[in-house]
Amino acid sequence: MKNLNHLFVATAISLILFTGCEEKIDSPVIPINPDLAEVEPTPCENPPLPLWYLQQLYSWGQEASFILADTNIHIADLALMHTVYFENSAANQIFGPNGEYTEQINQQFNGLKSFWDMESDQIILVASRGSMLEDRVKVVKTYQAHYGYSDHKANVYADSIATLLQTYPQFLNGQHPAFTFNQLAIPDTILSRIGQIPDKIIIGDGLLQGYEALGYGAIAPQAILAHEFGHHIQYELGILIKGMSLIPKTARRIELMADAYAAYFLSHPMGGAMQEEGMQQVSEVFFNIGDCSFEANSHHGTPTQRKAATEWGYRAANDLRPHDQILSILEFARMFDAELENIVKQ
Ligand SMILES: [Zn+2]
Repeated sequence: MKNLNHLFVATAISLILFTGCEEKIDSPVIPINPDLAEVEPTPCENPPLPLWYLQQLYSWGQEASFILADTNIHIADLALMHTVYFENSAANQIFGPNGEYTEQINQQFNGLKSFWDMESDQIILVASRGSMLEDRVKVVKTYQAHYGYSDHKANVYADSIATLLQTYPQFLNGQHPAFTFNQLAIPDTILSRIGQIPDKIIIGDGLLQGYEALGYGAIAPQAILAHEFGHHIQYELGILIKGMSLIPKTARRIELMADAYAAYFLSHPMGGAMQEEGMQQVSEVFFNIGDCSFEANSHHGTPTQRKAATEWGYRAANDLRPHDQILSILEFARMFDAELENIVKQ
């Protein structure tokens, strides 16, 4: 099952860079990328969420679960990639398989936009939904747009998807969480043949379902959204740049920083105003998407480090006097960088 573990790392944990584009890079407003210590392994165990995800796949049986890892069919990524390319309007978006998270997510999004000192009205919030696998037109378009498949090849593979959904009832016609186990922030981009893609945050229904299964349904949607918003703050500051390549130490920094931005907003009285009990759950939400892949360029920090980053962000909001003061996005990033060395000792 090693390749399925790899698949989890590749698809389930937030991918924050959309590197397929070759557009011009905007100059960073302020260069604030310090020298970073290399990643040194620290004690680490896989948290419950990836184990839950793998249990889902084990219950499918080996044959069905290995289809998920097939690098020609890309069935685990199609819904996400369709959303990346073609969901370019925030209108009529619903979150959760039955729309159950729509209101809490939209409400939090409005709060985030007014909280942080940056232009953010252009960012749209969209869902990745497994029902697209039943829509042949969408499947063909996604194979062509993201994977570069010819018209013929895209149609052949679209037929395969339809057959697979019929053959494996475990797939729930695409509604199984494994097909949308993702979260993503991407900057605005112009793509040939597609056109303008706006600044975007994507939340997958499957990830929400996973957290719900672990008892975090009331907290995880807000936490995920606030974390992804943190990546847009990083784009604004030039900490993240379109098309940049990440290595373990840079990936870890931006992910832990995004956790801290999220915690600061969620606990701040002018933001989410969550109390200690809620913030404990937020730290567990991020703990659950930490990883032990110290050498992976997508390394997000260990579960313990993610919890520590969250708790630091919480304390930064809690210790603040007066309570109606909000740190600027730049000041916050600098404070976080000054603390990063201590956070990664955890
Ligand atoms: Zn992230």
